[in-house]
Amino acid sequence: MNYGRVYNFSAGPAMMPEPVLEKIQNELLNCNNSGMSVMEMSHRSKTFLRIYDKTVADLRKLMGIPDNYKVLFIQGGGTLQFAMVPINLMKNGTAAFIETGTWSKKAIAEAKKYGKAVVVASSKDKNFSYVPDCSDLDIPEEADYVYICENETIHGNTMFKLPDTKGKILVSDQSSMFLSRPVNVADYGLIWAGVQKNVGPAGMTIVIIREDLLRDDLPAWAPTYLSYKVHADNDSMYNTPNCWSIYCCGKVFEYLLSIGGLEEMDRRNREKAALLYDFLDQSSFFRSTVEKKDRSLMNVPFVTPSAEQDAAVVKATVAAGFDNLKGHRSVGGLRASIFNAMPKEGVEALVSFLKEYEAKNA
Ligand SMILES: *Cc1c(COP(=O)(O)O)cnc(C)c1O
Repeated sequence: MNYGRVYNFSAGPAMMPEPVLEKIQNELLNCNNSGMSVMEMSHRSKTFLRIYDKTVADLRKLMGIPDNYKVLFIQGGGTLQFAMVPINLMKNGTAAFIETGTWSKKAIAEAKKYGKAVVVASSKDKNFSYVPDCSDLDIPEEADYVYICENETIHGNTMFKLPDTKGKILVSDQSSMFLSRPVNVADYGLIWAGVQKNVGPAGMTIVIIREDLLRDDLPAWAPTYLSYKVHADNDSMYNTPNCWSIYCCGKVFEYLLSIGGLEEMDRRNREKAALLYDFLDQSSFFRSTVEKKDRSLMNVPFVTPSAEQDAAVVKATVAAGFDNLKGHRSVGGLRASIFNAMPKEGVEALVSFLKEYEAKNA
C-alpha cells in the first residue's frame, strides 16, 4: 500500500519497518481482543503482562542473552544512563572511558559528577574520525569498569573489535547499533540502548545487565528509580512503564525474528552500507569523513569540498523527497542514517540522486 512515506534518513527518532507499523495500526483500537488500545491498558493487566513477557523472551532469543543477565526497560532515555551507570557501577569511584565522539564525551562529563572518569583512549585529535587502538590500554587498577560508545551516531564511527579491558567489566552504549548485528552478550557486564534509534518509539531504554552487578547498597542519596536492582526485582514495573514503547519494540523483535534474526539483519545492513560507501569512495565530489576500517554501518557522515556546497546538496535532497540528511553541526556536511528499517531501495535511491547531482553540479 502507498502511504506517501518518504525515505527518512533521521538519526533518531528514526524509521520503523513498514510491516510493523501496519500491524500496530491494525491492533490500535482493540489489542489482542482486550477491547482496548495498548495505550489505555493497565500495565498489571493479563493482556499487557503477556505482551511484556513475550517481548522479553523474543529479545532474549534474538540476542542469545544468557540466563544470568536481566533485561530491563527504563525511562529517561539514553541520557539518564550516563548517570545511572556510574551511580550503580562505580564502587571504587573510578571508571575508564574510551572517547570516540559526542556521546562518549557526554557520558564522561556526567560520570565526573559521581567519581573519577579516566580517558584511556581518544580519537579527539582528528575530530573522532576513527576508533583508537584499544588493544593495550592503561587501565587504572581501581577502575570499576571500561565504558565505550560502540557506535557514535554523530561522528559515524563504530567498534568492530571490542577493547581489551584486562579483566574489567565492559559497559557499552549500543543505542545506534542495537540489534543491527549479532553481539556476544557474555562479553559485556552491561549493554544499554535508547530504543528510538534502531528499534521503536522514543521514551525507553533497554538495559541488559549481568546479575552479579545488581547492588542493593547504593548511596542513600540515590533516587530509588535509579537502582538497576529495583527495576530487576520488579520486572521493570516498579512504577508505570512506557507500555506503548515496550509493545512497539516487541513488534520489532517479532519482525526481526521473522526475517531470520540478527545474522540476516547484519547481512542486509552491510549490503546497504556498502552501496553508499562504495559510491562515496569513487566520487570526486563527495567523501566519507571516517577512516575505512571504523566506518559505521548505521550512520554515514559525508561532505563535499565546501560548506556552501554541503548546504546546496542538503537543500536539493529535501526538494527530491529525502528527509533529514543535514549533518550534525559538530561534523558539518551531510549524514545518512541507514538503520535497520531503512530499505535497500532507500539507499539505492539516495545514491542515484547523489550521482546525478555530482554529474550536473560538480
Ligand atoms: C541518541 C543517543 C543517546 C542519547 O539518547 P537520548 O534518549 O536522547 O537521551 C546516547 N547515546 C547514543 C549513541 C545515541 O545515539
